[in-house]
Amino acid sequence: MSHDVYELSGVRCRELLESREASATELVQVYLDRMRGVDAQVGAYLLTNEEAALQQAAEIDAKPAEERRPWEGVPIAVKDILATKDMETTCASRILSGYRPPYDATAIRRLKEAGLIILGKLNMDEFAMGSSTENSAYQPTRNPWDLERVPGGSSGGSAAAVAAAETPWALGTDTGGSIRQPASLCGVVGLKPTYGAVSRYGLIAFASSLDQIGPLTRTVSDAAALLQIVQGQDPLDSTSTGLRGPLRLPTERDLAGRRFGVIKEFLGEAIDSGVREVFNDACKTIEALGGVVEEVSLPSVERGIAAYYIIAPAEASSNLARFDGVRYGYRSGEGEDLLSMYTHTRSEGFGPEVKRRIMIGTYVLSAGYYEAYYGQAQRTRTLIIQDFNRAFADYDYLISPTSPSVAFKLGERTADPLAMYLSDLCTIPVNLAGLPAISLPAGFSQGLPVGLHLISPHFGEQALVDAAHALEHRFQLEARPALTEVRE
Ligand code: GLN
Repeated sequence: MSHDVYELSGVRCRELLESREASATELVQVYLDRMRGVDAQVGAYLLTNEEAALQQAAEIDAKPAEERRPWEGVPIAVKDILATKDMETTCASRILSGYRPPYDATAIRRLKEAGLIILGKLNMDEFAMGSSTENSAYQPTRNPWDLERVPGGSSGGSAAAVAAAETPWALGTDTGGSIRQPASLCGVVGLKPTYGAVSRYGLIAFASSLDQIGPLTRTVSDAAALLQIVQGQDPLDSTSTGLRGPLRLPTERDLAGRRFGVIKEFLGEAIDSGVREVFNDACKTIEALGGVVEEVSLPSVERGIAAYYIIAPAEASSNLARFDGVRYGYRSGEGEDLLSMYTHTRSEGFGPEVKRRIMIGTYVLSAGYYEAYYGQAQRTRTLIIQDFNRAFADYDYLISPTSPSVAFKLGERTADPLAMYLSDLCTIPVNLAGLPAISLPAGFSQGLPVGLHLISPHFGEQALVDAAHALEHRFQLEARPALTEVRE
């Protein structure tokens, strides 16, 4: 099989398998080779599942065509926050080193039921806390477009692996922007579904009222296909609802009559001029396709980051209480009694950003401050929800740049947590309101990818992928990251 890895999407892999132009073994081999050639530079994978993937592929290839399920044999890689049965799952934290879950996350189970082949587990910020993947306890991941720069985060491994064509597609998670921001910085598509569309069972919890699993892919069609595979109501997650109907592969090519509101508050000082230029051009493209673009104000979204950095740490401090050295992964050898064993395990097992969040969360939930911080943040969250509802009475979509800047240099923001937190200015309010949103590559600034961010009303995923698909065909970005394969 001759192949150009950058041309292989999930949908394309399926076509090649159906037409017998490629076997599952050949496809897995293509990606294992690519990984060997580039991952020493990119650092996207924490673990590869080589043996099991090749064995599964051989079994699929031995099956008669009529017994195969539609996606059977298509490879995929997943963020290491998703529990995979008997396969190490670390959340990029020392505290979970060596942890092999006895069960699969529901999203993983659905991938397996569809017959997809898991290539490996992808790097991330520890417990999904971060915007650059530099908080991984194991390794940094580098941006395939410029190896001196970050891939974004926390799903940086997922975005970089897709951008470097080390997998056709990947799963990530998004609590405040962790699918969309890395997708934007790496020039791939990232879709955060409506809260509840995908079960969170087996997704190691960061902030349960915000976390969602979603696809990072090369094309909008792939994002729709992958979401359709993993979505669905699940008795194991009482907040799961599934989508409100099957998600079709998008075919639309125009935006006639659709109304797009540009969120005024997301175009302030914080947005780099190069990003703003790409965004303005994207607005012109929307109009050229028949869409109506107007400015709209959602005053409360400016408080999104402040509210998020109370609500998310509050939930995290509670969720992370379970890592005590007894039930999962790492246990410190120090400590003469149970309490000091807990203390040593947690001091050695968690990295600095995770500790910062646990301390903030514990503080804002403490009895004397609860109303002043957590209560206020929840009220702010309600105002944000109301602002979105009001805007969606007038607009089909709300739009903004995905990230205020292009990919920044490794180390540039590690000493300044607040500068890092600003990376999610435009994405965080969407999680607070539980809305679906997509980031798709819209152009380049300084030779680096810039993403366009489209937001829909709850369960508006079909409309979201339809519009993104129409735009994707207009943007037609031909550039690819210049990665040279290096082999020992
Ligand atoms: N960057 C944000 C944070 O650090 C969002 C992370 C996420 O979406 N998981 O919390």
